[in-house]
Amino acid sequence: MDLGIAGKWALVCAASKGLGKGCAAALVREGVNVVVTARGAEALEATAAELRALNPAVQVRTAAGDITTDAGRGAALAAAPQVDILVNNAGGPPAGDFREWTRDIWIAALEANMLAPIELIKATVDGMAARGFGRVVNITSAAVKAPYQALGLSNGARTGLTGFVAGLARQPQLAARNVTLNNLLPGPFDTERLRSNTAALAKKGGQTFEALWESRRMSNPTQRFGHADEFGAMCAFVCSVHTGYMTGQNVLMDGGSYPGTF
Ligand code: NAP
Repeated sequence: MDLGIAGKWALVCAASKGLGKGCAAALVREGVNVVVTARGAEALEATAAELRALNPAVQVRTAAGDITTDAGRGAALAAAPQVDILVNNAGGPPAGDFREWTRDIWIAALEANMLAPIELIKATVDGMAARGFGRVVNITSAAVKAPYQALGLSNGARTGLTGFVAGLARQPQLAARNVTLNNLLPGPFDTERLRSNTAALAKKGGQTFEALWESRRMSNPTQRFGHADEFGAMCAFVCSVHTGYMTGQNVLMDGGSYPGTF
């Protein structure tokens, strides 16, 4: 299937590793020019080189910086001539007990997982509407559908973003101008984050990393973790010309972990 987006420009946030990188790679394979961001410049440049090798016909630009800051977002937006596709992503907040979370800890989670995406949406969707094409994909979490006990910061901030997007997506100024906003909800994907979270949990529970990793793997109906490439492929499809009639939706990719019928 031709996704019909070759030549478009995408801003893919937090994309030197993991799910963001998977999204950038899938878009690059489809001929989309990309701006990729991350705080660490070295890993970001290495990823950009990999992306260029995937498809030498596209432009791959980097904007090193913290996407939760005005400066980071400004640099990311300045690096693209226009943004036709916006993939919002950032690091996830830490696990813990809500009794220990200060207001500053909450604000940091809200900045990363709710307010930064909203600022970038604000900066880009009206231009998309004027051009008659736009796709916004927010990488959220399966926690939006079924909260994780220890991830209250993530449950709260991401659900806030989801509620905001649900309303905005239905504005005719956007929906009737072929601008869609959707969320991708990852369950467990084999990334650095999942590995470091598992290591921390194993240490806390007095288990080895390998034992916990194996039991998490076997507890998924697919008996495996997701791959960033699979996540990227879904992202590219949601960003394609074929999805103009799908907006305000939450696409769960969790190997069937969520037990509900729908
Ligand atoms: P990852 O493998 O750790 O990669 C995170 C990427 O984001 C890196 O490129 C990192 O680079 C960048 N990043 C982090 N904070 C940033 C910031 N403030 N500004 C710019 N770039 C930033 O993580 P992942 O597993 O792909 O997770 C991506 C998102 O999905 C996270 O929010 C995570 O909580 C969520 N999620 C993941 C899973 C899973 O199983 N993997 C499940 C549910 C939800 P730098 O560190 O250099 O900035």
